[in-house]
Amino acid sequence: MTQQPLVIVGGGMAGAMLALLLRRYGAGEVVLVESHPLTLPEAPPLTPSFDARSTALSAGTLAVLDDLGLGEAIREHVAAIGTVHVSRQSRLGLTRMSAQEEGVDQLGAVVENRWLGFVLLGALFRDDGIRVRAPDSLTGIRRLEGGYQVSLGSGETLHTPLLIAADGARSATREWLGISARDHDTGHDALIANLSLASDHDGIAYERFLNDGPLALLPLPDQRFALVWTGPREQVDQWMALGEREVLAQLQSCCPADAPRLTGIGERQRYPLVLTEACAQVVPHAVVVGNAAHTLHPVAGQGFNLTVRDLLALAQTVGSSDQPGNLSTLQAYAEKREKDQALISQASRWVPELFRVQQPLFAHSRQLGLVALDILPGLRSGFAKRAMGL
Ligand SMILES: Cc1cc2nc3c(=O)[nH]c(=O)nc-3n(C[C@H](O)[C@H](O)[C@H](O)COP(=O)(O)OP(=O)(O)OC[C@H]3O[C@@H](n4cnc5c(N)ncnc54)[C@H](O)[C@@H]3O)c2cc1C
Repeated sequence: MTQQPLVIVGGGMAGAMLALLLRRYGAGEVVLVESHPLTLPEAPPLTPSFDARSTALSAGTLAVLDDLGLGEAIREHVAAIGTVHVSRQSRLGLTRMSAQEEGVDQLGAVVENRWLGFVLLGALFRDDGIRVRAPDSLTGIRRLEGGYQVSLGSGETLHTPLLIAADGARSATREWLGISARDHDTGHDALIANLSLASDHDGIAYERFLNDGPLALLPLPDQRFALVWTGPREQVDQWMALGEREVLAQLQSCCPADAPRLTGIGERQRYPLVLTEACAQVVPHAVVVGNAAHTLHPVAGQGFNLTVRDLLALAQTVGSSDQPGNLSTLQAYAEKREKDQALISQASRWVPELFRVQQPLFAHSRQLGLVALDILPGLRSGFAKRAMGL
């Protein structure tokens, strides 16, 4: 067990989850630095991570939350995904993945980010081994023998054998560490909102490929869907400006015929789809995680689920280590995670592109892809298992 604390910069989904996992896997003290105020347990937080969005949690992520003793609290406010219905507007080619076919209770579950934040941050505040510094931020780092000296805006100075950058896609910590990142601006935005329904969704999540980009409808408690509607920025400008009746009519026309009727839409918000990839994830005594390491297209709801698999591996590797910042230890972690990260990052980049191409040959092959997925249970099952994070 190390004497100096491990320091995480960024108290969003990745940073909060990592602090808990590090403690679970033997870390002594962890300091979490977050630039927004974290006001729990009085009120649910509203930070860039724990905002109005919802997150589809894979079965693998739910198992990690169970391991942290938080699964029950999370499940108080989730809707289970029993079936995923993938289709393309006005074309042949539809596939369904179901929990029944996979022999599991559910493929995953959808949680509102504010509730996820409430549960994760509540657990952080209950743990005496986690010191939360919020609102506070990093003002400088200095490389020392055996680690980093970290200066905070509050005037505090920390010494750590392992500095963890979890401060999002525009990570200042990553820059302080001298790690560059590649950005791929898709030119698209995601519009998100909650939708109320005339009838129950029966635990069905819809993934619909439209000409402008993919649309996802994720089941939420209380007969609602969480909407993720992606398209070119000018198109999203129009969707944002439409009145409630018009936007609901347009959305309904994009939905499969058997989807429930949409009756209302909550506040609409938009997120630019800029895919970021750090050029390195580990250097001596530092590691980059979450959106700071890889920001994915939200098409298949994989960003946080992939991150949780990274964080679990990292916590298992360094949590109880005497030398958590040792480069060969960190490299072993990075190597372990390389394949999964590459596969998910490529798929989340490739799938929306493939479905956007208009040439008839492509249109045909992607229909065939969906049909093949539907006809070949083994292929579909492999796809479902990866999406479930198993
Ligand atoms: C529309 C949309 C839908 C999504 N849906 C899903 C889904 O269904 N399933 C899924 O698995 N993933 C989904 N994702 C991906 C998921 O949201 C990300 O994986 C997740 O937000 C990553 O969290 P993070 O903590 O790394 O980064 P962020 O959420 O960006 O959090 C970074 C944190 O660091 C803090 N910070 C920033 N700078 C500093 C600083 N200098 N000092 C201290 N703190 C700082 C910020 O305030 C923030 O709290 C979706 C993403 C989008 C955009």
